[in-house]
Amino acid sequence: MALQPWRTGKVIRIENETPDTRRFWFEVPELDAFPFLPGQFVTLDLPIHEKPNKRWRSYSISSWPDGSNVFELIIVLDQQGLGTPYLFEQASVGTEIPFRGPQGVFTLKEPIEEDVVLVCTGTGIAPFRSMIQHLHRNGIPHKDLHLVFGCRNQSSLLYYDEMRSLEKAVPGFHYHPVLSREEKEGFDHGYVHAVYERICANRQPARFYLCGWKGMIDEARQRIQQLGYEKKDIHFEIYG
Ligand SMILES: Cc1cc2nc3c(=O)[nH]c(=O)nc-3n(C[C@H](O)[C@H](O)[C@H](O)COP(=O)(O)OP(=O)(O)OC[C@H]3O[C@@H](n4cnc5c(N)ncnc54)[C@H](O)[C@@H]3O)c2cc1C
Repeated sequence: MALQPWRTGKVIRIENETPDTRRFWFEVPELDAFPFLPGQFVTLDLPIHEKPNKRWRSYSISSWPDGSNVFELIIVLDQQGLGTPYLFEQASVGTEIPFRGPQGVFTLKEPIEEDVVLVCTGTGIAPFRSMIQHLHRNGIPHKDLHLVFGCRNQSSLLYYDEMRSLEKAVPGFHYHPVLSREEKEGFDHGYVHAVYERICANRQPARFYLCGWKGMIDEARQRIQQLGYEKKDIHFEIYG
């Protein structure tokens, strides 16, 4: 897809998801529909610096293409950062923010002929929520679809109720929440790595999609290759 022009995104709704994570809905008034592929991101131009390239922050689209001109982002506050304090403290319903997109190639290639293992931490769930909802709503055939989602505790699990509902509604979808700082019945305890290693213990044909912060992704790429999978089976989006 060619580089898209800068457009205006208007904040139309904001909701707290956890104490430090918010969902932001943007409308694109100049378009009737905002098409994108699940897994793509947009780049916001935030009023936080004189130099344009120091103002740009990218966010995966967490909603799915529904033919409307609205998209959703889920954003975690970094108190030490520049962009997210602006979004949390100054942006409100009605704020207009220039953005560019959709961008990126972190998308599910079809047909899906092997298991898909989605691995993320924190707001890295954004592109995966979009992909899972897209497969579900369009009845796209797939094999087993695993979402391994690492967080500190149950209260920091994003889209928790929605993922539990999808588990019931989507045949072959398996949701694996993993808590690193809380031991609770019904949840894996520890880090994401042991969970996808267990899922792939039989080395079944699988594709991996990794999303989140660099440390998790670097380790997962190494471990998945040690399991015997090839580099071409591993796709990733690094947040920082
Ligand atoms: C493709 C993509 C998709 C993404 N999707 C999401 C998403 O869906 N949700 C989400 O929450 N995030 C996402 N991110 C991350 C997002 O783009 C931002 O990096 C994040 O929101 C932090 O932005 P910030 O402006 O608040 O922090 P920044 O101002 O960028 O600072 C980040 C950190 O770096 C430190 N820092 C800054 N400058 C310096 C310096 N000079 N020296 C040392 N340390 C410094 C700060 O202390 C801070 O802790 C994505 C990133 C990419 C690349």
